[in-house]
Amino acid sequence: MDLTGTVVLSLLAAAMAYTTAVLVRWAASARTASYAGAILFLLAMMAAMFAGALIYFLNPSSVSLAEGFWFAAILMSAFVFPLIYVLTREVRLRAAHGTPPPDAPFRPAGYVVGTIGLVLVNEFLMGWVFSLAAGLSIPLNQGAVPFLESVVVSPWFIFTMGGEMLLSAHFLRARIRPEIRIVLLLQGLLMVLSPPALASGAWVAVAVYGGSAVMIAFVIYLLEFVARHEEFPRGFATYALLLVGLYAFMMAGLYLWVAYGWLPLFALVLILEMVLFFDALLGLDRFSDGPSWAWARSPRWTFGLLGTVFVTEVFMGALLDVQVTGGAWLSTVPALPLMGPPLAVGAHLFANAFWWLATVTASAWFLVMMGIEMGALVYFKIRETRHRELRLRLWILVGVFASTTVLIPGFWSTIPGVPALATLPFLGWTMGIGSGGALAASVILAVLGTYLLVAGLCFLFGRRALCSVLCGMAPLMYQGTLMDGMKSFNRSSPVGHKYLGSRFSAAFSITGAVALTAVLSVTVLSYLDSIGSLHVAIAGADPTVFLYNLNFGVVWYLLFVTVPFVGTYNCVTLGWCHWGMVGQAVSNRRLGLFRLKVKDREVCKACTTLDCARACPIGLVDMPGYFRTQGEFRSSKCCGVGDCIESCPYDNIYIHDVRHWIRARFGRPASRLPALSPRDTQLPMVRSAPPNRSAPLAK
Ligand code: SF4
Ligand code: SF4
Repeated sequence: MDLTGTVVLSLLAAAMAYTTAVLVRWAASARTASYAGAILFLLAMMAAMFAGALIYFLNPSSVSLAEGFWFAAILMSAFVFPLIYVLTREVRLRAAHGTPPPDAPFRPAGYVVGTIGLVLVNEFLMGWVFSLAAGLSIPLNQGAVPFLESVVVSPWFIFTMGGEMLLSAHFLRARIRPEIRIVLLLQGLLMVLSPPALASGAWVAVAVYGGSAVMIAFVIYLLEFVARHEEFPRGFATYALLLVGLYAFMMAGLYLWVAYGWLPLFALVLILEMVLFFDALLGLDRFSDGPSWAWARSPRWTFGLLGTVFVTEVFMGALLDVQVTGGAWLSTVPALPLMGPPLAVGAHLFANAFWWLATVTASAWFLVMMGIEMGALVYFKIRETRHRELRLRLWILVGVFASTTVLIPGFWSTIPGVPALATLPFLGWTMGIGSGGALAASVILAVLGTYLLVAGLCFLFGRRALCSVLCGMAPLMYQGTLMDGMKSFNRSSPVGHKYLGSRFSAAFSITGAVALTAVLSVTVLSYLDSIGSLHVAIAGADPTVFLYNLNFGVVWYLLFVTVPFVGTYNCVTLGWCHWGMVGQAVSNRRLGLFRLKVKDREVCKACTTLDCARACPIGLVDMPGYFRTQGEFRSSKCCGVGDCIESCPYDNIYIHDVRHWIRARFGRPASRLPALSPRDTQLPMVRSAPPNRSAPLAK
């Protein structure tokens, strides 16, 4: 098709989008059956018009033109009868029952279904007609799926639909709550940024990267909104969950298309997403009416949100990996052959799914995306953190994640002339095992160096050096605003509350023993394999590499999304991370220089809030008791996150570590380290009410 034709069709599509958006606005304002009937009639007229045009474009000729004209005219005439029926029925009802209240919305299910159905039919017919007019091929003889798919992913369907969504949300903006307005806007943008809409490599790249950026913004906005609002209308909760669920399928559909050229899932999700969008516009009252609903009391909803966000992220990460590498990434995913007896095929299928997930979650682009989202939530927390030392640590952990979790593992090998990562302490072995590869004799020194470095830092600064900074993953994911709001699950969840407190429960001892035994076993196996004494592989890989991927590529994320059932920072509380146990071994009740101290234990004795215990993301609920009796708290589980320090209404807690030890030992003047000393602090009146704090963190 020439440029003039394209411009004409585009103008017609824009007019169609505008008209439909106006009709949707009217439909959302309907108060009576006659008004609603008129809207449906107008939408049906548009459908009749496109049906007539379709007859012509399927077989262009003067005969088909006349046939199309008459077909449309007959349909339009037929639609007048239901309208007349609705009008006369309403006149009769008004005569019998009086005029309905002026502000009661007219929303029978049939009306909502009819409106959305007609909008969809119009879109579909228009997409089909315009595609034929533009000379695009619409296969009619290859079955229903290729036919539906080619119409739905045509630019005439997608861009017009995206325009309708954005325009109708704009027309109704005065009636839409701000949070819904933002979500609808992002939803419309994502519809427009559909990569399969145009058969052009440049468009696919723009849409994949642009769509990913919008999706990241959407996830950040949604998670931060949830973190800031303990309660919101149930309508919003349902809508948000359904939308993220659809996005999980949408990203899966896009991945299948980019990787294997398979499009039906994406096409189906486009339609469902559009239905959800217009259903929201036709029922805006559900977002403001009704009792508020507290998500913290609904672990299943919270699990659904975290789970669907995670699935969305995984497929978006895989999509980016394929797009950035031009498909080369696919060959890096370990794949066992699907041949042999059924049991072997099943086992290989399971192993392939495992390696796919572990490879995606370890890939640079997944981590970049995850880092931006979780980093944004940490940034929001930094903005409201009062203590400079805690702010600084939060900045450092973001930097550590960016460097040791994303940049170095992802891009080190692209730097010419650098030594192999596996030979470098810590950088190649950030999780102590498997992260650098198999445990060969040649890397023993690098591994030992890693453990010595981490153990030394934990001895001096406490386990926080590892679990609140160097670990990279957990500090970033568990210290943003969202997880602050989820701390209550440590006490309310069925598993989490078994692990509360600083003492080792039986459950903790069991999980810890399993974790350590697993690591020691694979270490021995890997070493024996590397020196040729034994030949052993698990799921086709070296035992340590397998365990590393299992722990930090799969189990880690499973435990993250199940926070509503197992509590936050569960790598620490459950004791399943061998790496954290290194910190635990050198920073505990007897060993190490780290502890939490209070400036005045009398303040704690008089305190009735116990905010420090409530704020702890590890669930160390017994800390106020230690503050009252000993004036300090030491625990091998304490990661020094510092939320207790922030939350204490009397500003009574401070961190004691090697810096204080040096000062006490070598008599460094207090003025050189003012922020660390409680010495000059003016304590508040012990029996006064706690000072009025600014907005609580979880609001
Ligand atoms: S326990 Fe392990 S995963 Fe959790 S923060 Fe510590 S090192 Fe990281
Ligand atoms: S909130 Fe502050 S004053 Fe109260 S027990 Fe905890 S540390 Fe002491």
